[in-house]
Amino acid sequence: MAKPIGPACNLDCAYCFYLEKQALFDSGENFRMSDEVLTAFIHKHVEAQPTPVVEFVWQGGEPTLLGVDFFRRVVELQRSFAGRKIIRNSLQTNGTLLTDEWCRFLKRHHFMVGISLDGPHEIHDRYRRNRQGQGSFDAVMRGMKLLQKHGVEYNVMASVARETARRPLEVYRFFREQGVEFIQFVPIIERLPAAAERELGLNLAGPAVLDREERNTEVTPWTILPEEYGDFLIAIYEEWVRSDVGKTFIMNFEWALNAWLGNPCPVCIHAKQCGRSVVIEHNGDLFACDHYVYPQYKLGNILTDDLTQMVEASLQTGFGIGKETALPRWCRECDVLKACQGGCPKHRFAQSHYDEPGLHYLCSGYRKFFRHIRKYLRAITTLLENGHSASLVMEAVKGPLVIRPGAGAAGKQNGGRAG
Ligand code: SF4
Ligand code: SF4
Repeated sequence: MAKPIGPACNLDCAYCFYLEKQALFDSGENFRMSDEVLTAFIHKHVEAQPTPVVEFVWQGGEPTLLGVDFFRRVVELQRSFAGRKIIRNSLQTNGTLLTDEWCRFLKRHHFMVGISLDGPHEIHDRYRRNRQGQGSFDAVMRGMKLLQKHGVEYNVMASVARETARRPLEVYRFFREQGVEFIQFVPIIERLPAAAERELGLNLAGPAVLDREERNTEVTPWTILPEEYGDFLIAIYEEWVRSDVGKTFIMNFEWALNAWLGNPCPVCIHAKQCGRSVVIEHNGDLFACDHYVYPQYKLGNILTDDLTQMVEASLQTGFGIGKETALPRWCRECDVLKACQGGCPKHRFAQSHYDEPGLHYLCSGYRKFFRHIRKYLRAITTLLENGHSASLVMEAVKGPLVIRPGAGAAGKQNGGRAG
């Protein structure tokens, strides 16, 4: 993941953990990745990948502040270093600066766009405002409509703050009405800063300590409450499983099914170990992960250090496997561990019921959700194993369903057994 404009953004969202990172740089910093750093990064990243497909994720702050020409240069450099490799690009944006010109570019070069939209007007504007305090909803919607008009592949990333979590169906139905097909829900979790973070000029706490009791557990007022996150996902799942399977793709649900089927999780938070998802700042500094952009987690710099060695060092020094080895007993004995894997270490600041440190803040919500959907995952797995479409689960939830193995279709019969 690259942050070519560092933490700089045209919005000032209340819950953002990127913006405050400006305090970690000199006051005169312009946060624009130089051509020297960009060239070194693209060259080294393409070269370091053993796979035929190389992925780039462009994130901010707000990367569109750099203008289309910056990304024209990105594509030009990627072409010159790609050789026989295929390059894929994703761009995470708040959508407010998108134009026809941007969308033509994104479409032409097959960028996958993630657009940040939290829900209908009032819900979105509660936290996502500009520096003048004005909501960004209208500008984001204009951006999303442009993406739709130009046929750019996109998904919606919806942050779920405390108030949002209490209005699950309003959020979900809004996205459906807007024709959004791919959605990812991201729970907002932030703690108030401890003395060490305050000294650095930060307003939010950094990653949790896992090996001893975390004293600093006070969360911000917009942080979601654990059980309410479970309830939020459950309410949406209950509606989705009745009417939208195969039409709307909710990444959080796809990951759970994936885990149930025994496949590795494509997203790090529910994977066994932290992946190789290193992040590069605009000045070439490399960090182990987007959640760990703090001076003590710096791996090196792209201009002076070897990329492969920096990544290996991060994995071997415990960051990668630490996610699994630091799991408390409460997690290791948990009946939904396969789907949850203990969540992101940054947010493991709770004490478990065995009074151990390192339990994820959202544990009770995760548990509630994964336990609740087990019956549906079982049904979907049975359908898939018998050669049917997962969308038949929408019939199964209405009543008894008989599945004929390998028939490619299922008959709903009174008195039959549920699939
Ligand atoms: S620390 Fe959290 S966000 Fe970072 S790679 Fe691990 S699970 Fe993912
Ligand atoms: S639900 Fe809770 S106990 Fe179970 S794996 Fe997740 S965080 Fe650990």
